[in-house]
Amino acid sequence: MDLSFSPAEEAFRAELRGWLAANVPKQIPEPQTLEEEVAFLIDWQRKLFSGRWVGVHWPDEFGGRGASIVENYILQEELARTQAPEIIGRIGVNLVGPTLIRHGTAAQKQRHLSKILAADEIWCQLFSEPNAGSDLTALRCKAERDGDDFVVNGQKVWTSYAQFARWGILLARTDPAAPKAKGISFFIVDMHGPGISVRPLKQMTGTEEFNEVFLENVRVPAENLVGELHHGWEIAQTTLSHERGTSPRQLVIHRILLTELLRLAHATRRDGANAAADPLVRQRLAQAFIEVELTKLHNWRTLTGLLRHGKPGPESSLVKLFWSEMSQRLHDTAMAILGTHGQLMKGDPRAAAAGRWQRSYLYYRAASIFAGTSEIQRNIIAERVLGLPRSR
Ligand SMILES: Cc1cc2nc3c(=O)[nH]c(=O)nc-3n(C[C@H](O)[C@H](O)[C@H](O)COP(=O)(O)OP(=O)(O)OC[C@H]3O[C@@H](n4cnc5c(N)ncnc54)[C@H](O)[C@@H]3O)c2cc1C
Repeated sequence: MDLSFSPAEEAFRAELRGWLAANVPKQIPEPQTLEEEVAFLIDWQRKLFSGRWVGVHWPDEFGGRGASIVENYILQEELARTQAPEIIGRIGVNLVGPTLIRHGTAAQKQRHLSKILAADEIWCQLFSEPNAGSDLTALRCKAERDGDDFVVNGQKVWTSYAQFARWGILLARTDPAAPKAKGISFFIVDMHGPGISVRPLKQMTGTEEFNEVFLENVRVPAENLVGELHHGWEIAQTTLSHERGTSPRQLVIHRILLTELLRLAHATRRDGANAAADPLVRQRLAQAFIEVELTKLHNWRTLTGLLRHGKPGPESSLVKLFWSEMSQRLHDTAMAILGTHGQLMKGDPRAAAAGRWQRSYLYYRAASIFAGTSEIQRNIIAERVLGLPRSR
């Protein structure tokens, strides 16, 4: 394995560092509402876009830079290192754009791609349903042809940022008689059209990032079908493959969290002594350090696989499984160190680290659910990496 970067990759990093040094906001405002946060993040994405740093992995002709997998990895790493906010349009940039570039019509590309990069339009992903999450092929939302339109009826759930989205990518059943994965189609849906209602769901962090979406007789023009009728499942594989792979952003975030935790362990007094002097705390911190380093190595191995074979392969499940569970162990360690004050929320004057760890602890519970639960990742590793018999 070659662990060095090429001169071109180093030049890419240098140019990016220069731009970030001049443009990442020095002070990120503390938003009072999700609306304020979203407005700030739209401005930030526009700024990144003006420097051509959004969707760098998209081909030049669609507004990207045709950047390599390694360059995109470097971009994610550097954005996290400078603690730049994550872009708001990530569903559009990371999932929708690459799917439309591969399977969309010329008109769909023309209409949507540049607005995705510029954060002029936010997208959401209407895949999961109340009884179709891990087994997405069980979805029941249906689309029936009626003249020049399809008429969609059904319910979606856990739809992140649907309340801010102008467009959604939707999976719906178009052939109920076909075997589960065969009769599904992939559509672009106007979230502002009649028949769509969005109901935010409050998470345990207190914010309402995701939603229930109800679709009642929603008319979707036939030109919004992506790819061939009944072949949406194959197209969804393109979308989902972009959810997997490496996670340089999470790696860097957890490195920063660990540094902060070490500082807090030195600053926290327990039984009259410094918490970092407790041998059990020291062991847990050392373990956290080892696991963050292992996350880096898992990332590098997946990156190498991507470079060799062009796709992440089933080994990417190892990265997802490892980093999400590593994160939860690291947050458990943080809570053990911070004690009861660590459990207090932002706004409480007694909250340790102004409640940041409490929020982060709750937020990262979701990491072992989104983009494939830990059990699903273990099934993939068992069957496709280790070659064990398929589970029923
Ligand atoms: C923060 C967050 C954001 C999300 N955003 C979106 C979004 O924007 N759009 C969208 O479409 N979806 C979104 N999701 C939904 C996400 O994709 C699903 O939650 C996920 O696929 C799991 O499905 P489920 O919640 O229905 O759980 P289920 O599939 O019902 O699973 C319940 C439990 O059973 C286990 N299980 C299920 N099948 C198996 C099996 N075969 N073997 C062993 N164990 C099994 C699971 O691991 C889990 O522990 C989001 C989820 C989260 C947490």
